[in-house]
Amino acid sequence: LTGPGQLFEMDEVPGHGGTVKTWKHAPRDFRALLETSRFHGDKIFLTYEDEHITYEEHFRRAATLARRLADEYGVVKGDRVAIAMRNYPEWVIAFSATLAIGAIAVPLNAWWTPQELEYGLSDSGATVLIADGERAARLTGLSPALIVTRGEVPEGARAFEDVMGEVEADVTLPPVDLSPEDPATIFYTSGTTGRPKGALGSHRNVGQSPMTVAYGMYRGAARAGRDPGETAGQRRVTLLTVPLFHVTGCFAVMTTTMFSGSGLVLMYKWDAGRALELIEREKITGLTGVPTNVWQLLSHPDLDKHDISSLNALGYGGAPAPPKLLERITEQLPSRAPSNGYGMTETTALAINNAGIDYLAKPDSIGLPMAVVEVKIADPLGDELPVGAVGELCLRGPNVILGYWNRPEATAETFVGGWLHTGDLARVDSEGFVFIVDRAKDMVIRGGENVYCAEVEAALFEHPAVDDAAVIGIPHDELGEEVGAVVRLSSPATAEELQAFLRERIAPFKVPVRFWVRDTELPRNPGGKILKTHLRREVLGS
Ligand code: AMP
Repeated sequence: LTGPGQLFEMDEVPGHGGTVKTWKHAPRDFRALLETSRFHGDKIFLTYEDEHITYEEHFRRAATLARRLADEYGVVKGDRVAIAMRNYPEWVIAFSATLAIGAIAVPLNAWWTPQELEYGLSDSGATVLIADGERAARLTGLSPALIVTRGEVPEGARAFEDVMGEVEADVTLPPVDLSPEDPATIFYTSGTTGRPKGALGSHRNVGQSPMTVAYGMYRGAARAGRDPGETAGQRRVTLLTVPLFHVTGCFAVMTTTMFSGSGLVLMYKWDAGRALELIEREKITGLTGVPTNVWQLLSHPDLDKHDISSLNALGYGGAPAPPKLLERITEQLPSRAPSNGYGMTETTALAINNAGIDYLAKPDSIGLPMAVVEVKIADPLGDELPVGAVGELCLRGPNVILGYWNRPEATAETFVGGWLHTGDLARVDSEGFVFIVDRAKDMVIRGGENVYCAEVEAALFEHPAVDDAAVIGIPHDELGEEVGAVVRLSSPATAEELQAFLRERIAPFKVPVRFWVRDTELPRNPGGKILKTHLRREVLGS
């Protein structure tokens, strides 16, 4: 394969209510991706603090763990293995080992409360949990077989290092028959109603996604009139600024790195000051995160004290990017090709991006769909609307997941005739550029982290003093939005009391930072739905 033209050849395969376009040369499943990554041999794949893991070492460790999971824990194809930890190298090894034997990885949100973690474990039916000490210590109830790294090993659990034992040089992956349609991952994502749902991704999704990201990069370079191989000779090193338990971290960054043989620097958790130090020390060339990460980096008081000249690409997505952010990047870091990417858990990360596009001419566009991704703007009946009309953004392609784990109804509602209904309102212009106009789903995006209002409201309703509640987004420069709540109370309760109550039930990032108490009934439409736009205007004036 010599040039992008051949590299990005497409094929068609049956799926999603007909046939879908796919990248012909993408790995057919995760196992193929892992095996190919071994050719990068002695090159460093993962860096965490002073630890460095080469591609060969990563392969051996993943293969060893895969053998232990199969032999000692009886994990077979289709079983679920949950992972609950911060961005440690063991996260990547656990993920690789699980997928390589055809088991399904269940990455759990590291910020979740014990109740939420236990829900994820029981909903997915995981038989093994690989956790860090901090997460393991939080588990109070029943847990599956527990393997613990980086921290205290509770009674009945085993240390990750003990399970691994000796890593042999000639270790091979246990045999398994994999097809691209086989399930590979369950990422939890909330919904407008009820508890988080498991988004079931296939091996095809996993194999196609690094190619989609690569395509975005090549297209970006080509459109910007740059040679895509311009940075050839300079080793690409990416800083992971988002959690691995999100599709952005896992696919747009981690598996994409593995596919290209570049380097990935992990951070225990996001910290803008630490990121600046790492960019300088590790000669980071690219950074992909949520808009908040980039915003905090540009606003950091130590920005000028660090040599960040190695940085040549700044990608962000997963949340609306304030137009001011683009202005700041252009002003403060003029040559750092910024790109905004749109994607969802249900699209295995990237689906649409604006890399290389004259983004200043269309600053509010999220760009053009990736070549294998089809876009439809639909009316409420699902019928396609003409160019320029606002409707629900629907997507189809090899990146769209299989459905929701054990939720046939939710699956049927969201995936209609092969089209994923995103719940985002959008329009497409005559050149095919997509503009997100609003969110039809009742959700707040706080620093890239989705907070589903229904989930926070349900937790609020558990408080005896709460008669009625509506959760809304409060605009915030750096985070995009913060969580706020309007409540009607039957007896007095302070904001602090309500916050403390919620912190026991839902992860801290979901807890409202501001409460408004209303003495009268919350405004509702005839169907009983709270009129949030009305409420927002009332309390925020916007
Ligand atoms: P998640 O499943 O957590 O990745 O969240 C997906 C949702 O985040 C989408 O349905 C959008 O509402 C929002 N989103 C993702 N990327 C963008 C973007 N580039 N611009 C605006 N909203 C975005």
